[in-house]
Amino acid sequence: MGETIIAKPADVRAHSNMPDYAAARAGFDWAAERALLSPLGEGRISIAHETVDRHVAEGNGGRTAIRWLGRDGERREYTYAELQRETARFAAMLGRLGLKRGDAVYGLLGRKPELYIAALGTLRAGCVFCPLFSAFGPEPIQSRLEIGAGKALVTSAALYRRKVAGLRDRLPALDHVLLVDGGEDAGPGCRDLAGAMAAEDGTGAPVPMQPEDPGLLHFTSGTTGKPKGVVHVHEAILAHRATGRMVLDLRPGDVFWCTADPGWVTGTSYGILAPLANGATLVIDEAEFDPSRWYAILENERVNVWYTAPTAIRMLMKAGKDMAAGHDFPALRFMASVGEPLNPEAVIWGNEVFGMPFHDNWWQTETGGIMIANYRSMDVKPGSMGRPLPGIEAGIVEVTEEGATEVTQPGVIGELALKPGWPSMMRAYLNNRARYEKAFRSGWYLSGDLAMRDADGYFWFVGRADDMIKSSGHLIGPFEVESALIEHPAVAEAGVIGLPDPTAGEIVKAFVALKPGFEASEELRLDLLGHARKRLGPAVAPKEIEIHDSLPRTRSGKIMRRLLKARELGLPEGDTSTLETGA
Ligand code: ATP
Ligand code: MG
Repeated sequence: MGETIIAKPADVRAHSNMPDYAAARAGFDWAAERALLSPLGEGRISIAHETVDRHVAEGNGGRTAIRWLGRDGERREYTYAELQRETARFAAMLGRLGLKRGDAVYGLLGRKPELYIAALGTLRAGCVFCPLFSAFGPEPIQSRLEIGAGKALVTSAALYRRKVAGLRDRLPALDHVLLVDGGEDAGPGCRDLAGAMAAEDGTGAPVPMQPEDPGLLHFTSGTTGKPKGVVHVHEAILAHRATGRMVLDLRPGDVFWCTADPGWVTGTSYGILAPLANGATLVIDEAEFDPSRWYAILENERVNVWYTAPTAIRMLMKAGKDMAAGHDFPALRFMASVGEPLNPEAVIWGNEVFGMPFHDNWWQTETGGIMIANYRSMDVKPGSMGRPLPGIEAGIVEVTEEGATEVTQPGVIGELALKPGWPSMMRAYLNNRARYEKAFRSGWYLSGDLAMRDADGYFWFVGRADDMIKSSGHLIGPFEVESALIEHPAVAEAGVIGLPDPTAGEIVKAFVALKPGFEASEELRLDLLGHARKRLGPAVAPKEIEIHDSLPRTRSGKIMRRLLKARELGLPEGDTSTLETGA
């Protein structure tokens, strides 16, 4: 690890929002960041004000806030002024329906403009917004609505009929269902969203909030178990704004594309809030992943900053370099990735195809915003998550019965931990106080991920604590093994688990999916075993490799290793509410 470095040219560094990481880190202070907010008097703030009204007040109401690309070629744009009016209408409508400050409003909708208006309108009204994946089935919808006591739901008539109507008598708190495509007759309490909003004039101001008032409820991806409901407050916008500027290098007027669905935290924190707080234009694509469509969007919409995920990058790699060759991306300035470890192979591929590396960064639903990152001005070590955000103290800790102790010498694997106190830190796991308290030890927040820090202060992801493999005295992280497998020309994706073994404790087993043009065969399997042995050595290389058509993934694109393991061992699959169908 660490032998390759992608160095940043001096002019790229000089033209970054944060030209010098060390200086920015030394000079950073959240209080100064807080002073950049536009206060609403008496210490009140609002995410809605910071993302929308503030730009209108500063004379930029005519700038495009949302550029929506419909699945079938339709386009819709909203300026900041239009977004202000629409979200004010939505907020006033919630008030007319009797919703109070702190009440929960849920969104269950594909990537439609109405979803974005509902999210921002909810925050504007002082209510709490909770996004759901539109592909969720009835059970996950019900349990999430129950945990957050959802009072209103914004959805479509079809989604409502298929997934929610049958649950209504089990959801006593759900008073209102707002349908984006009409359908008053869909059921009790259902109304047409546009009709309900038309009664409002759209002039109301955002409700001034205390910085500690809750604004967002996000459920974790469910990669390691039952999803947890994470509460974030209005002050979180400080972190969104700061990370948008320092990590994503966002500037007013930038065209920004975050490919994550708002059904999970990246699609909200960075698909809506951070870019709007920085005055950018959001590109929203309603359609599902499609390599040629994605290249066309990057080119034709003149995307300046692109934020995506390892799964999507691996799928673009799978589609082949030729597909990118017919396109030009002169506007593209920065590309970043989050959600899963980004294999070094993918970082280097990005550099070859786009002339710049993908910048990996790390964070969680719990942290609310980016915590560790590769910055535009900083040299990239492919395979590393980068260095902690200015204002964030990250450490590698050893956790024992007595507590958590920081390990300061480089190269040691331990739990990745953060010193609490940044604005977008979770304030609670809803209805699960014990689990929340367990996350804090000796003044550290414990992430549940294992990592190591090198001598230059770069952090390297090793694996989730639950996924680590102990084999003949070696501690093996699945990521290292998966990355080595992906370097093989036939492999598109890999998932690695430990299986109980009487002599070794555990043995390493790998599951791989192939790139187009490769067929599963005994010969290929042996070749893969040999390749892994050569790359990793016999102690770490998988003893078994199985070739599958695809690997089980969460809807946010994460390989579900616990499911590979449960299936392999014939154990119960546990909570599969976030499993992508067909996986
Ligand atoms: P659950 O907590 O329900 O099991 P989850 O942890 O996948 O689900 P998220 O909060 O969406 O839910 O994901 C955060 C996790 O994703 C991190 O803890 C880490 O394991 C992984 N992750 C995110 N970004 C990166 C990255 N850049 N490199 C490696 N892992 C990452
Ligand atoms: Mg987690």
